[in-house]
Amino acid sequence: MSRLVPPHGGGELRPLLLSGEELNKEKEKAKGLPRIKMSSRETSDLIMLGIGAFTPLDGFMGKEDWKGVCDDYLMSNGRLFWPIPITLSTTKEQADSLKEGSEAALIDEETGELMGSITVKEKYTIDKVHECKQVFKTDDTEHPGVAKVMSQGDINIAGPVKVFSESYYPGQFKGLYMRPAESRKMFEEKGWSTIAALQLRNPMHRSHEYLAKIAIEICDGVFIHQLVGKLKPGDIPADVRTQAIDVLVEKYFVKDTCIQGGYPMEMRYAGPREALLHAVFRQNFGCSHLLVGRDHAGVGEYYGPFDAHHIFNEIPKGSLELQPLKIDWTFYCFKCDGMASMKTCPHGKDDRLILSGTMLRKMLSEGAEVPDHFSRPEVLAILQDFYSKLEDKVEVKLHKYAEGA
Ligand SMILES: [Zn+2]
Repeated sequence: MSRLVPPHGGGELRPLLLSGEELNKEKEKAKGLPRIKMSSRETSDLIMLGIGAFTPLDGFMGKEDWKGVCDDYLMSNGRLFWPIPITLSTTKEQADSLKEGSEAALIDEETGELMGSITVKEKYTIDKVHECKQVFKTDDTEHPGVAKVMSQGDINIAGPVKVFSESYYPGQFKGLYMRPAESRKMFEEKGWSTIAALQLRNPMHRSHEYLAKIAIEICDGVFIHQLVGKLKPGDIPADVRTQAIDVLVEKYFVKDTCIQGGYPMEMRYAGPREALLHAVFRQNFGCSHLLVGRDHAGVGEYYGPFDAHHIFNEIPKGSLELQPLKIDWTFYCFKCDGMASMKTCPHGKDDRLILSGTMLRKMLSEGAEVPDHFSRPEVLAILQDFYSKLEDKVEVKLHKYAEGA
C-alpha cells in the first residue's frame, strides 16, 4: 500500500495515453477523421491528460463543467474540485461539420503532429469575458492568459480523449520530463511519504533554495518541478535552468533530499487560480505539499503578492489532499546575516537584498554585475555563460511587482 497522497479525486491515476496495439489501431483510424488543430495550450493540456497529471479528467470539459469550474471551482457532478477550465475550441464552420458522437483527430498546430482523438460529446459556446474575469480576474488582453482565451475558436468541443503522443518532451527533456506514475515510483523507492513540490519556471536562486530547505526541514524530500512547456520570450530555457539547478543541488543540498522533474503544461499566468491547478496536478505527481511563495504564477500587476496564499482558505474544505506551504516574501538580510522573510526579519528595506528574477534577467542580459548573496556563484556562472552566447537580446520589462515563481 502506497504511503503517498492519493491522486486527485481519491481513485487511481488515470493516464489517457495509449500504447502498443491499441495505439497503432487508433492512430490508423484517426488518419481518416476530421482534424481539429490545437493551440499550444490545448496541446499541452492534452499531454497532461495523457500522462495522468489531470487525473481524474477523461477529456476536454463540457459546458456544465466549464460553468461549475469558472463559478464554483467544482465539476458539474458537484463533488470534484477543479480550479481552471480545461477546454478545446474550434471555428464555427468546423464545429458545424462535426456530428455529436463522431470522432475527430487532434493535431498540434505548431508541429502538425497527430496527438490524439476526441469523441465529440458536446459543442457549445462560452462567454469568454466571463471565463477571463473568473479565472484571471481581468479581461485585459495584455494579460497573456486572457489573450489566449480571447483568441481561441468560438465553439468549444467536449468529450473523452485518447492520447497518442507526448510530443517532443520525452526526447528533448530526457531524464527531467516525467509522468506522475514515475515520480510516485521514485518517491516510494526513496521511502518518502511527504514531499513538497517547488514550482519553478526561472533559475533557482537563494530565495528558491531557502524555500526548498524550509520544506526539507518538515517533509521527507522536495520535488523541484520545473516547467518545460512554452515560456514567454526572455525566459531562460529549461536545459540551462536544469544545469543551474543540478550544480546548486550538488553543492548546497544534502544528498537524496531533492528530485528534479519537468512537466509540459503551458503557463496561463492565472496567479491564485493557477496555484490551485499546480496543487491539483502536484498531488497527482505524489506530492503532499506545494510551496507557495510570493506572486505564485502571476504576471505583471494583476494579482496581489499573496493572493495565491489566500485562495487556499477560500476553497471548500476537503477540496485537496495536498497542503500549501505558504512562505512570506524571502530575501537575504545583511543584518540577519542570512536568508530571512518578512515574517522573521525585523530589519528595514535598506538592510535587505531584494532582487526579483526579472531584475536579475535584466542585469544578466545587460552584462551588469549581480550583487553578492542573491544567487550562488556556480549558478550565476552558468547563467552568465548562457547570456554571453545569446545572439538575440530580449529586452526585459520590469513591473512594479516583479514576478515570482
Ligand atoms: Zn534582517
